[in-house]
Amino acid sequence: MGDQSFNAFELAQKQFDAVAEKLGLDAATRELLRNPMREYYFSIPVRMDDGSVQVFRGSRVQHNDARGPNKGGIRFHPQETDNTVKALSMWMTWKCAVVDIPLGGGKGGVVCDPHHLSQQEQERICRGWVRQVARNVGPLADVPAPDVMTSGQHMLWMLDEYETIRGEKYPGFITGKPLSMGGSLGRTEATGFGAIYVLREALKLKNIDIAGCTASVQGFGNVAQYAIQLFQAYGGIVTCVACWDQTDKVSYTYRKKDGVDLAFLLSITNRYGGIDKAQAAANGYEVLPGDAWIEEEVDILMPAAIENQINANTVGRINPSVKVLLECANGPTTLEADAVLKEKNIYVIPDFLTNAGGVTCSYFEQVQCNMNFYWSKEEVLQRLESKMVSAFQAVADLSERESVSMRDAAYMIAIQRVAEACRLRGWV
Ligand code: GLU
Repeated sequence: MGDQSFNAFELAQKQFDAVAEKLGLDAATRELLRNPMREYYFSIPVRMDDGSVQVFRGSRVQHNDARGPNKGGIRFHPQETDNTVKALSMWMTWKCAVVDIPLGGGKGGVVCDPHHLSQQEQERICRGWVRQVARNVGPLADVPAPDVMTSGQHMLWMLDEYETIRGEKYPGFITGKPLSMGGSLGRTEATGFGAIYVLREALKLKNIDIAGCTASVQGFGNVAQYAIQLFQAYGGIVTCVACWDQTDKVSYTYRKKDGVDLAFLLSITNRYGGIDKAQAAANGYEVLPGDAWIEEEVDILMPAAIENQINANTVGRINPSVKVLLECANGPTTLEADAVLKEKNIYVIPDFLTNAGGVTCSYFEQVQCNMNFYWSKEEVLQRLESKMVSAFQAVADLSERESVSMRDAAYMIAIQRVAEACRLRGWV
């Protein structure tokens, strides 16, 4: 996204190919797993508030459902490409497998910019998306969730459209729903908190005390906000937050050397994670260029925005102080950058492990919907923590045992699980 020359699907396939080779996977399994099983692209005609009709491009890609129904978010983004959605669907398959939940991988989106759409127009896009794929999704086939620039409200419009088409109630069709409408406590926090549970375990392994650790964060959406909250609760200090400014159409890095005040930043942030620049500056925040976050002298970098942020052009600017890269976003690091990170001896905690907390809690939401019985927040977060910690430990153990990177170890576990499911089903 953004950079037209970057192809996220190529990155996802290359990552897969390298590990498939390491694992000695047979040719048919490789062919099956390196491509999505099904792809849907469609037009969504939408009546705009001014009476005109605009046609939006929608998509849903189902990468692999050998382990269970496809699962993954729907994003609204003006630069969304088919290749990005394909890559994201593949990463969802590995994400569900690495935390060992019985779901496959899917992803979808609509090419649009919600900043310029009214709530009513967004509702019509949501309903239009469901009308185009209602036959191909559902609680037992493919279960959407929120993603970049979509929320519980979008999910509920989609659920309502789906239930209207089917004439029955299907609360398990979609996750990330508002709490009062079948959502799970803890789902909003889950991705950010999950990332920090994993970081906490990694720092333990490296004998680094999380209290007093410093971090620089890219992004200030749902994932970043809750990651910062828990990191600070553990005594961590966030010195930089970088995010997109809708008015100026560029990103800025907001720096406060003694640590950002999360509650204050939230009070001056719009619902897309955009920080009010003037108010930040008036309250002691340095306003720096958007890419300054990557150069910050900190212990931990947390990219929590979109793909292709740590690449051949930016990796050289990482400060020598950085010990850990916590990939909160999907696909933030390119292959070239990954090689440099290895040379620099930076401990990379890979995206589809780090940010698996969201889908893990989505799975809990489905379980609760199916039982029609809801857990307390403590119960949800405790189950989430134990899932994340055991997934991290399994990856860290394999990485140590086989002397491979954390990314390769996570891929090895995930690919083996999915390949086994395909074999047991008799597909390969
Ligand atoms: N969109 C989130 C992700 O990329 C969550 C997906 C889900 O809950 O299904 O992991």
